[in-house]
Amino acid sequence: MFYNDNTIAFFDGDYTKVGNIRMNPYAQAIHYGIGVFEGIRAYDTPNGVKIFKAKEHFERLIYSAKVLQYDPPYSVDELISIAYQVLEKNNLKDAYIRPIISLCENMTLKFSTEAHFMLTVWEWGKYLGKECVDVTLSSYQKPNPKSTRLDAKITGNYINSVLATTEAKQKGFDEGLLTDLNGFIAEGPGENIFMEWNGKLYTPPQGHILPGITRQTVMDIAKEDGIEIEERFFTPEELFTADAAFFTGTAIEVAGINSIDNQKFPKEWKNTIGYHLLQRYSAFTRN
Ligand code: PMP
Repeated sequence: MFYNDNTIAFFDGDYTKVGNIRMNPYAQAIHYGIGVFEGIRAYDTPNGVKIFKAKEHFERLIYSAKVLQYDPPYSVDELISIAYQVLEKNNLKDAYIRPIISLCENMTLKFSTEAHFMLTVWEWGKYLGKECVDVTLSSYQKPNPKSTRLDAKITGNYINSVLATTEAKQKGFDEGLLTDLNGFIAEGPGENIFMEWNGKLYTPPQGHILPGITRQTVMDIAKEDGIEIEERFFTPEELFTADAAFFTGTAIEVAGINSIDNQKFPKEWKNTIGYHLLQRYSAFTRN
C-alpha cells in the first residue's frame, strides 16, 4: 500500500528505488527511536499539483531536527523542490508526503551527528476513511512535556500514539483521545481537537500537544469568518457537555467526532462549525 517495486524515493541526495535503500542496523533511529518526520499532503488542483502549507511543514521538520541538535543540509526551498520531484517521479498528484531524518549509527545515548534524509510519497485517502469518527477516551496520557519534546515531531514520541490507537481499535472505536498529565483533554494520536460550545470554539493551548499546521489553518479560517475561538484547557467532563467536536490533522484533514465512549454529541455534523470549516478547508487545499 505504501510502496511497490517501482516506488522512487529521495535518499541522501539521490532519487532511487525504495528497494535500494539500506540503513545501518546500529542506527540510533532503530535502537532509540531517534528521528524526526513530517506528514504533508499534495493536492491535485486546477492550477496543478500543490503541496499544502509546504513551507510550514518543512520549517517544522527543520525545527524538529534542531531539537535533535542536527542541522539538515537542505533549505526549506530545496526540500519543497525535492518533494515536488518525488511526486512527479511517482506520477502522483493527490498524495501524502513523508520526509524523515533518522540519526545514524552510534550506540551511546548522545545524539549522533550524522543522519539520513529520506522522502517518500504514497496515495492515502482521508485518514480513518470517514468524515465522522467514534472516539474513546484513552487510558494513555500524553507524556509529561518535561520528559520529551512534544512540540517536535520525533519518531520515538509516536509509541504513545500507537499504544492509544491500538487500544481504541481493540475496543471497537475509530480513534483514541488522550488527556495530559493534569487530566485535561490534549489531542488524538495524530490529530488536534476542537470543541464547539454555544457557537464558540475551544481548543487546548500549546504545551501538551503537537501544534498542528491544520489546527493553525482552521484557526485562521475561523477568525476570517468571525467565529470566536479560545485556546484553553478543558476537561473530559466539559467536552461531554459540548454541542459538537472535531479533529484536525494533515492526514485526517477536518473530521467530525460523532461520539465519545458512545455518548453522541447533540448537534448534527452538517449543522456544526466543524462542518463549515471542513468545506472551507477543502476549498483552500484543492484550489
Ligand atoms: N498531533 C499529533 C500528535 C500529530 O501527530 C499530528 C499530525 N502531524 C497532529 C497533531 C496534527 O498536526 P498537523 O495538522 O500539522 O498534521
